[in-house]
Amino acid sequence: MPKSLNVKSITTWKEYNGRPFIIAGPCSAESEKQVLETAIGLKKTGKVDVLRAGIWKPRTRPNSFEGVGSAGLPWLKKAKQETGLPLTIEVANAKHVYEALKFGVDILWIGARTAANPFAMQEIATAMEGADVGVLIKNPINPDLELWVGAVERVYNAGIRKIGLIHRGFSTYEKSRFRNLPQWQIPIEMKSRLPQVSMLNDPSHIGGKRSLLLEIAQKAMDLNYDGLMIESHINPDAALSDAQQQVTPTRLAEILNNLVLREPMTHNDHVKSALDELRNKIDFYDDQLLEIVEQRMEVVKSIGQIKKENNMSILQNKRWEEIIYKSIEKGAQKGLSREFINRAFKAIHQESINLQTEIMNDSKVKR
Ligand code: PEP
Ligand code: MN
Repeated sequence: MPKSLNVKSITTWKEYNGRPFIIAGPCSAESEKQVLETAIGLKKTGKVDVLRAGIWKPRTRPNSFEGVGSAGLPWLKKAKQETGLPLTIEVANAKHVYEALKFGVDILWIGARTAANPFAMQEIATAMEGADVGVLIKNPINPDLELWVGAVERVYNAGIRKIGLIHRGFSTYEKSRFRNLPQWQIPIEMKSRLPQVSMLNDPSHIGGKRSLLLEIAQKAMDLNYDGLMIESHINPDAALSDAQQQVTPTRLAEILNNLVLREPMTHNDHVKSALDELRNKIDFYDDQLLEIVEQRMEVVKSIGQIKKENNMSILQNKRWEEIIYKSIEKGAQKGLSREFINRAFKAIHQESINLQTEIMNDSKVKR
């Protein structure tokens, strides 16, 4: 695949209302009335660029509402005629693609479960060949960057040039405040891998509840995302899917009005030089950090050598528990978060174990 993809930014796909690019609409199309009323409400906000609705719904458990299927396409078409809003729907197989294209759907989005499945991705990409359609690819449900890149490559290789990404968070078994863990480092890395591809954020599926939408959307804006996909329903409490995370068009407009948009760059020279000075300091401390880590690893290697010569095991649980406990306490006294110290030290410890394993396996242990 070429290093730099020749794709068009989502802001050029159509005229839009200004940053951020907003896609909104119900989780699922439920009836003609619900689709039309929601679309009209969204249009009235003056902030929405594209209308979304799911008609084929991938549900975790059977017997949940699985969408109205192709019957929803004429409702969406009517909503587009009445509001002028372009449409996006989710496609999960070739048949969905053909039906959506037949109805003139402007943008197809690929859901998180489908993006995780290379067979499905290839089938969908092949079905799109030659179409002038926008394609938005959600992150796969599992935190696998290569799989996400692979999904983009398949669509790109099918000749599609209007490609964008949607960060919707990652499945988790652990209980968390989020429905899907944001793991912001993954979309950030994706942005640096594919800088030409627009990145939207889906705070609805990350948060899973209305109260988290603004906080997540704000964070996405602070990280320079290009836009948002947010679920909005004319009567959210009565929604047949994802009721807790949907908001009315009026509430959506309030959330969008509350977003603070910051610029990635400043033109103020004073601010620039103050930042440069601080960044120099950061670089200095980063160099020091690296040097200290290097020195620590040298000590780890010497210990590995002694353990090898004396036929001792690498992992000494008690010693390790003491280290981590002490470091967390010391860090906390310095105002560093316990969770951060725990993660940072565990990463260092893992590397130490790897180094010592290499030393152990270098040649047979002497007896
Ligand atoms: C949706 O957007 O309604 C949806 C099913 O999303 P995801 O693929 O992110 O779960
Ligand atoms: Mn949904």
